[in-house]
Amino acid sequence: MAQIGFIGLGHMGQPMVCNLIKTGHQVLVFDLNEVAMQSAITLGAKAASSVAELSAASDVIFTMVQTGEQVSQLCLGEHGIFANAKPNSLYIDSSSIDVETSRELHLQAQENEIDMLDAPVSGGVKGAETASLAIMVGGDEAVFERAKPYLNCLGKNIVHAGAAGNGQVAKICNNMILAISMIGISESFNLAEKLGLPAKKLFEISSKASGQCWAMTSYSPVPDCVDNVPSNNDYKPGFTAQMMLKDLNLSQAAANTAELKTGLGAQATKIYQEFVESGHGDVDFSGIIEMLKLKTER
Ligand code: NAD
Repeated sequence: MAQIGFIGLGHMGQPMVCNLIKTGHQVLVFDLNEVAMQSAITLGAKAASSVAELSAASDVIFTMVQTGEQVSQLCLGEHGIFANAKPNSLYIDSSSIDVETSRELHLQAQENEIDMLDAPVSGGVKGAETASLAIMVGGDEAVFERAKPYLNCLGKNIVHAGAAGNGQVAKICNNMILAISMIGISESFNLAEKLGLPAKKLFEISSKASGQCWAMTSYSPVPDCVDNVPSNNDYKPGFTAQMMLKDLNLSQAAANTAELKTGLGAQATKIYQEFVESGHGDVDFSGIIEMLKLKTER
């Protein structure tokens, strides 16, 4: 059985490691945070004392950290993954990072004879816990096939998005759609209320009419329209506004690189920036409806 190495045992990494262990894999883990290491060991993982040690001992290596800078630091340099992993190792980065860094790392991996995939996920902590993450994967098709048995332990909707970096492209474009549609339906619900049409009545109509979208029918920002969503629970996350802002910033960086104007994406980024700066970074991203309500009242 392949030895798996997993770096980054945070909100997402910890339950992912748990699912790899549950499906019978041996997992070697590393994190800078000692508490996170101890929790993973309690789950049945083995501790590595460094990135280099983990890399040298593993056939398949995952990273699940916050930023492109962190992923680069883990991969590059004499103590990093690429310098220490065995030739033909499989390296899967599941962090959500910028497309440029991801594509650069694919090139470096190739030079070191390492098979790399970018495989960011969507579905949040709940998706990670229930092994039902959506996983969008960039890299060679043959490497994707090689990785499938491991990805299948972590998610349900696993799609090969194409060449190197395309997993990250899919992730930021999907979340740009989500942010724009969440703001759009929030504005419409607020306007309906102001004009005397209860938001719940608009939900009843629009959820079956041409205005319907996932943000409305599966994640309604208006409470008591859909079961088990953050709006029913005082906008406790879920998917935080801070995380949404991070992905929107990545989308805007990518749009700049591609020299493409994404006007609504840029506007959505500004709106979430304001929401986060006003102290709501830890609120679910659907809580934006409350800030937009105040704005329309001005
Ligand atoms: P997190 O901050 O909870 O966990 C990151 C972990 O990485 C931490 O335990 C940290 O100590 C560790 N780490 C950072 N640098 C390290 C290093 N050099 N060596 C070892 N360990 C290191 O983050 P998270 O919420 O688990 O998110 C991880 C990634 O998944 C992010 O890119 C995020 O955007 C993405 N994501 C998160 C969610 C979510 O709901 N939390 C959903 C989808 C995607």
